[in-house]
Amino acid sequence: MGVKNQAPGSRSRLISNILFILSGIFLFVNLFFPQLFGKPIPQVPYSMFIDQVEDGNVARASVGQNEIIYELKQVNQEESQVLKTNPIFDLELPKRLEEKGVEFAAAPPPKNGWLGNILGWIIPPLIFVAIWQFFISRSAGGAQGALSLTKSRAKVYVDGDSTKVTFDDVAGVEEAKTELTEIVDFLKTPERYKAIGARIPKGVLLVGPPGTGKTLMAKAVAGEAGVSFFSISGSEFVELFVGAGAARVRDLFDQAKQKAPCIIFIDELDAIGQSRGGGNGFVGGNDEREQTLNQLLTEMDGFAAGDATVIVLAATNRPEVLDPALLRPGRFDRQVLVDRPDLSGRKKILEIYAAKVRLDVEVDLKQIATRTPGFAGADLANLVNEAALLAARNNRESVTQADFNEAIERVVAGLEKKSRVLNEKEKQIVAYHEVGHALVGSLMPGGGKVAKISIVPRGMAALGYTLQMPTEDRFLMSESELKDQIATMLGGRAAEEVVFNSITTGASNDLQRATDLAERMVTTYGMSEVLGPLAYEKGQQNFLGQGMGNPRRMVSDETAKAIDQEVKDIVETAHQQALDILSHNRDLLEQIAQEILEVEVIEGEKLQSLLNQAELPQQHTAESETVLA
Ligand code: ADP
Ligand code: MG
Ligand code: ZN
Repeated sequence: MGVKNQAPGSRSRLISNILFILSGIFLFVNLFFPQLFGKPIPQVPYSMFIDQVEDGNVARASVGQNEIIYELKQVNQEESQVLKTNPIFDLELPKRLEEKGVEFAAAPPPKNGWLGNILGWIIPPLIFVAIWQFFISRSAGGAQGALSLTKSRAKVYVDGDSTKVTFDDVAGVEEAKTELTEIVDFLKTPERYKAIGARIPKGVLLVGPPGTGKTLMAKAVAGEAGVSFFSISGSEFVELFVGAGAARVRDLFDQAKQKAPCIIFIDELDAIGQSRGGGNGFVGGNDEREQTLNQLLTEMDGFAAGDATVIVLAATNRPEVLDPALLRPGRFDRQVLVDRPDLSGRKKILEIYAAKVRLDVEVDLKQIATRTPGFAGADLANLVNEAALLAARNNRESVTQADFNEAIERVVAGLEKKSRVLNEKEKQIVAYHEVGHALVGSLMPGGGKVAKISIVPRGMAALGYTLQMPTEDRFLMSESELKDQIATMLGGRAAEEVVFNSITTGASNDLQRATDLAERMVTTYGMSEVLGPLAYEKGQQNFLGQGMGNPRRMVSDETAKAIDQEVKDIVETAHQQALDILSHNRDLLEQIAQEILEVEVIEGEKLQSLLNQAELPQQHTAESETVLA
């Protein structure tokens, strides 16, 4: 992959290790053999010291708190003898010394040799530096020393690598590819865009479940664009030392600006981009991440899109935790969904990986793609590899369909544990459920036009989804539109009832939302005839649109009952409408469900022509006319 890793850190690590060992030795020696650094002084009992004083043998003494060091009178021309003793509490001592004519003083300067002196001054700072270095080399993964603490550790991919990834290596995510192609195009020929006055987004955020190819896609952009590409993972900014992450961000952008035009890719953005002050219970524990995030925001604001062509790409699979400030215009204002591939996408991905193994002629990739809904690109790559391993284990020359079938079972078993893959029956239920939403939604269009139905599982919660697009920007909703929405939300569950005569847990989120909406109609919007235009709800919304709970105004028991009754009526009426619509269009429900089981996603013209065949049941038409009148 032609990665050039900057700043080899091995030399500074060596120095730090040597320092560390040296200071360790010094500490040891100094603690256990302190005399090595000064002249050893013989220790004598206190009584002997007193005797010597009394005998007039002591010339001078220095009296410390814990130690008395004294020198005997020179008997002959030999060197004077220095002794020491531990004092006991003795107030008479000064008097006694004076009487005997001993020269004495308090608090002696410690008598160390010159070596000890020098070492005493030099070693402690060295120890400090060594410990400092030790921690830095550890916190930096052992890669770099103190001076490069603030250096970004981005890998730089330079143009012209032979093993580079291109868009051809990525399949099944056409939408994302189109978006990014535009960016690559801009980097290659910025003049063309600038001539028209077009501005390219500064930040592009790739969002999608794990293993769908976000990182791969970013590498492909690097390979295609032919400009420098700085790649770093969000977690690499988060460091032990507060401020280091922010310094890294600054350094990264400085480097990038020098190399412009270029791309900065921040993988796993959620590691630094998590919502500030987001209630995870820690107070003050997130300083480092917050500083890093603030620095990133500042840097992104700092360069005008016009001058230095630095484009910031980022990837995350948890967009919901990102700080809203990151998503504002001028930052990551463009978000590209990199979703799990649909049938044709899976087939294309399989083709890429199948080309790398020797395939038996009778292998049918389309069939494999059909059997693997919910697989992400990484799962498919893994699948092909598993199949190849099986073939090799069975001493086959090439990978057969049977190998694939067995591999699918293995991979599915693994994924089912992570609840990401549906079995056949579940898939059917999801199909009818989603078509139920779509049919009711198309006949009761209060929530917008049905634009897409998908049974490709996304994330943990939604097994499939029906996308409704508002036909225009709406700020006010009428009562009948809200009722339409509730019916549409209940369409999924109604379909399960109509088709299977039973219901599953899959509709719980729908029910929740429908009930919430109905309750708001009654208690907040005053849309109930029984209860009148009163607001029964006290809850306020803050400016970010987050509700502060849902506390009801103090109401009497009867009113509370009436509210509950009214909410129930609204939901039940809507439910009945949904049931009527679906029973009336039973054949169409069947037809679309079969269709979607085959292709997994229906949208556009095809979806419209199918949904246009739906009819309102007679009695419902009359009813809704009276309501609208
Ligand atoms: P993400 O970053 O979205 O979690 P990656 O890009 O790391 O996923 O994907 C992991 C691997 O799975 C890739 O290296 C590639 O081999 C394979 N892969 C994933 N998605 C695709 C795709 N759309 N097309 C081809 N290969 C893919
Ligand atoms: Mg990734
Ligand atoms: Zn639903």
